[in-house]
Amino acid sequence: MFKKLLIANRGEIAVRIIRACRDLGVSPVVVYSEADRYSLAVQLADQAHPIGGSTASESYLSVDKIIDAALATGCEALHPGYGFLAEDESLVNACTDAGVVFVGPSAASIESMGDKLRSRSLVAAAGVPVVPGTENPVATLEEAAESSREIGYPIMLKASAGGGGKGMRLVRNEDQLRSAFQMTRGEAKAAFSDSTVYLEKYLERPRHIEVQVLGDRHGNLIHLGERECSIQRRHQKLLEECPSPFVGPEMRRDLGEAALAVARAVDYTNAGTVEFLVDAASSARPAPFYFLEMNTRLQVEHPVTEMVTGLDLAREQIRIAAGEKLSLSQDDVTWRGAAIECRIYAEDSANNFYPSPGGITLLSEPSGPGIRNDSGVCEGYEIPLEYDPLISKLVAHGRDRAEAIQRMRRALDEYKVAGVRTTIPFFHAVLGHERFLGGDLHTHFIDEHGLLSGTLQGSDGRLPRMMAALYHYLEAREGSSPDSTPGRRSRWKDYNRFPNLDSLEGP
Ligand code: ADP
Repeated sequence: MFKKLLIANRGEIAVRIIRACRDLGVSPVVVYSEADRYSLAVQLADQAHPIGGSTASESYLSVDKIIDAALATGCEALHPGYGFLAEDESLVNACTDAGVVFVGPSAASIESMGDKLRSRSLVAAAGVPVVPGTENPVATLEEAAESSREIGYPIMLKASAGGGGKGMRLVRNEDQLRSAFQMTRGEAKAAFSDSTVYLEKYLERPRHIEVQVLGDRHGNLIHLGERECSIQRRHQKLLEECPSPFVGPEMRRDLGEAALAVARAVDYTNAGTVEFLVDAASSARPAPFYFLEMNTRLQVEHPVTEMVTGLDLAREQIRIAAGEKLSLSQDDVTWRGAAIECRIYAEDSANNFYPSPGGITLLSEPSGPGIRNDSGVCEGYEIPLEYDPLISKLVAHGRDRAEAIQRMRRALDEYKVAGVRTTIPFFHAVLGHERFLGGDLHTHFIDEHGLLSGTLQGSDGRLPRMMAALYHYLEAREGSSPDSTPGRRSRWKDYNRFPNLDSLEGP
């Protein structure tokens, strides 16, 4: 096993990897940008190495700075986390050149899956269904119009190099295609330096269901079942669960086999995720599913799989990179209960998810049976403007989906963050929705059920009343208590800005 490992990332995922390192007896080292000097990851690591500037391009996206940090700190391995350089084969190659082990798949696997068109043809050749569409780039409007007529509207115009929910556009007819075609190409060129686009059939109300895979360097490859990620906003996941309420044992087996075939097609090692769109609206059963893409890294939503399988995926990743064998076979994989994850962001969900950066003046995190909170922040921490404003991933596990939901609602009630607005009220609304409770999900769930902007008034009013009572109690106590401090009093006053609290006046 490695002695020292560099974490080339920040926020909650850096903290998550620090914990995996500690459990393995590996010394964790983090890099940090100027904006992250006082982050939780910096506090928890054995060593923190500065890599300068606050913007991502000046810091976490600089291959040279990351490699220099690994060499300067004497790290034998490097974990990229997710985002930033996690799916950039140039980091893998630079690691190889520097003699540092990259915790992830080979550069060739990353490259094959990095381009959507290329991965589609690879996967189709392996016998796994892909979303019906074009096999080659579509270079002219005429070609696009002809292919769209063949596929049948509506279609999805997609940038081959796209990612993160960007570089795709829904087109319902030929008129729309005329304006969308050049626009999507231009945007793709600007965002991904590649204007290649192609067409896919647009599935109305699909479910996004993905399969976690894990492979070692000894030819062992297993899948760990599915995650449902249909609760999305602008094609970006907000809430994920394991297992999917839509998937039974037969479909799980079929999805698992398809995911393994995809992974085998690119000689995949380490942790990866094969994403599928499931056409749940089709009358066919089992419902047809189509390969969407493969993410060649650990995913944000990996904890729900961990809770249900009992595995530590980050730990497995490091073990695999160190040349060890998988700690279990396919037959050893068991699924126990259900888990749900809510991505808690410093965003104002009552105001179109507007970012809400700033200082966290008070933080009280939920805990108790079945609750796990993978957090990247601490009280006093200033959420920087420069990066994704994820505060934490709140995960609830229960014996079944109903219990996991109940526990999540309890945990959301307990979770108190002051100083910034959060997406906690939004999740209250989702988890209380009848259709969500029934497991009737699809990728437009949030828009269709009016769970966006302006509709959220916090929870049922119980929480604001409780908080007001607590506030008045503390006010009274702090006035008389010998250990009261001005600082403490003003922190509680920050509940004025607690997103669920309309007013401190009480009912
Ligand atoms: P990205 O790489 O940007 O994450 P994906 O191809 O993985 O993009 O798709 C992200 C989301 O976009 C999917 O979960 C789904 O909601 C939507 N989507 C993508 N392709 C289609 C399609 N052909 N039909 C309907 N929705 C789609």
